Amino acid sequence: MTTSDSTTGSVDHGVDLDALTERVNRAFDQTVSELKSLVAIPGIAWEAFDVAELARSAEAVAALVRSTGMDDVQILSVKTAEGVPGAPAVVGRRPAQPGKPTILLYAHHDVQPPGDLDLWETQPFEATEIDGRLFGRGAADDKAGIMVHIASLRAVLDAVEDFGVGVTYFFEGEEEAGSPSFRPFLEQHRDLLAADVIVVADSSNWKVGVPALTTSLRGMVGAVIDVRVLDHAVHSGMFGGPVLDAPTLAARLIASFHDAEGNVAVKGLLARDTEPVDYPEADFRADSSVLESVRLAGSGALADRLWNKPALSVIGIDVPSVAVSSNTLQPSARLKISVRLAPGQDPQAAADALQRHVEAQDLFGAHVAFTAVEQGNAFSTDTSAAAARASLWSLEAAWGVKPVETGIGGSIPFIADLLELYPQAQILVTGVEDPDSRAHSANESLHLEDFRKAILAEALLLARLDAEGLQ
Ligand SMILES: [Zn+2]
Repeated sequence: MTTSDSTTGSVDHGVDLDALTERVNRAFDQTVSELKSLVAIPGIAWEAFDVAELARSAEAVAALVRSTGMDDVQILSVKTAEGVPGAPAVVGRRPAQPGKPTILLYAHHDVQPPGDLDLWETQPFEATEIDGRLFGRGAADDKAGIMVHIASLRAVLDAVEDFGVGVTYFFEGEEEAGSPSFRPFLEQHRDLLAADVIVVADSSNWKVGVPALTTSLRGMVGAVIDVRVLDHAVHSGMFGGPVLDAPTLAARLIASFHDAEGNVAVKGLLARDTEPVDYPEADFRADSSVLESVRLAGSGALADRLWNKPALSVIGIDVPSVAVSSNTLQPSARLKISVRLAPGQDPQAAADALQRHVEAQDLFGAHVAFTAVEQGNAFSTDTSAAAARASLWSLEAAWGVKPVETGIGGSIPFIADLLELYPQAQILVTGVEDPDSRAHSANESLHLEDFRKAILAEALLLARLDAEGLQ
């Protein structure tokens, strides 16, 4: 349903594109200057930093939320499971009109520490514009996410008559510290944050000028494996030969996890089929810092190996260190492995498959004990659902370029929590970063033109949800 005429400009899905573009553009200088003010507050949720700055950051964000016309605005903090007070989160609410959906807009106002100041070419907490990019700690991650949510709602309220979608802002203050009170926060404020659609604006676009919707995150399982071959350590000269030591047997077990090409060789760990995305090998090599002589492991498209296939890593080994080594046969060894799972794979089924694999290996009859230690669900967006369709449409309309549906090889733990507490909600993972943003590093920056488009895309999404609901 696309119509256009000379008086209203182009209307698509009940959304007046020109009116919203005009509102976003008109307010853009102000939006950037508000972002600069946020960057000036070093709110860092790590113990070594001043908590007063986090409180000041929450106050500044709450003021921005109030400036959209919301009057239900609170700064809330909840204790972690260990009883430690969590960082202040800002929650603002605008109730939905009857029959209209509610959308939860998430971002975080805390930032990473600046790190080594000598590596910065500008002051980290003094946002500085250079060649179309805004430099500063949090300029991208994730204060720009907050400003996308604020500026998009302002534009919609200005351009759309009787806008009826419910909007809840949830700006957490401890994401960079691992969100220690996120889960108890959701549990205590479950009703306050309940929504039909959740937008998490904390990810990356594909590259400058090309938007992305992050549609999958891998799940994970972890396991600890104990290998025991002797009752106690014995002299390697007296007994070595007929008995393989535990580290050697553990190494044989480790070697069984991959085939000769480097693909995970554990039966029952699944891969997912999707539309191929081109991730150039040179980019991956630069991003990962892998040494030039190293061949990449596994088969199939690189993006699939990162997002849609399992990956198994040994993340810890308990054996005597070289410093205390002696000529003895080691009786036992302990490994910790971490397995990333393809979206769609059940973590428990994966842990069971792993255990079967470990127990099926012939380690000369050594005792092998397998303990699954942690699990995280994978995430994948149902791109045929209304919210995802609307989001992909809005990104394409704002950028004029088809969005890439990207995955992330890791997991975002709080997304698993959101899925668990709000199983009915459609979750959209969007973002303002690009591969040059250097979130967490020195010289973090935001591409301002893409920032403007991200605001427009979200304004279009809000307007379309108002016009069409979640059909
Ligand atoms: Zn972030």
